Amino acid sequence: MAFDYDDNNIFARILRGEIPNDTVAENLHALAFRDIAPKAPSHVLVIPKGRYVSFDDFAANASAEEIAGFMRLCAEVARKEGVSLEGGNGFRAITNAGPDGVQEVPHFHLHIMGGRMMGPMLS
Ligand code: C5P
Repeated sequence: MAFDYDDNNIFARILRGEIPNDTVAENLHALAFRDIAPKAPSHVLVIPKGRYVSFDDFAANASAEEIAGFMRLCAEVARKEGVSLEGGNGFRAITNAGPDGVQEVPHFHLHIMGGRMMGPMLS
């Protein structure tokens, strides 16, 4: 199968409550928590609650409800962190996929980073 999911990856363990996390927001389909090694004043990871390895797995196989729930939680995080364009100065949202994307944790996640000028994409 193209997207073999490892139930022992660290984010699966966070979702099961086996490892603590600093939760920022949560809904039925997704969880948002602070990155343990922040690269910006605000650095939050948003993960779906379903078993998706990567962006392409999630985009191809998640339901419309899961995708909407995930995206809405991303927007909520940006608002809560004060970086959304409604009152804030903006943010960067990125995902790393596979070896060339240097994805470390094989459970799809979006990094939402802000609170400073993020600089060029490849820095
Ligand atoms: O490269 P990738 O997008 O997979 O990055 C994984 C991220 O997960 C890293 O920024 C790392 O600091 C974060 N992480 C975390 N909590 C853990 C393990 C990793 O926030 N327990």
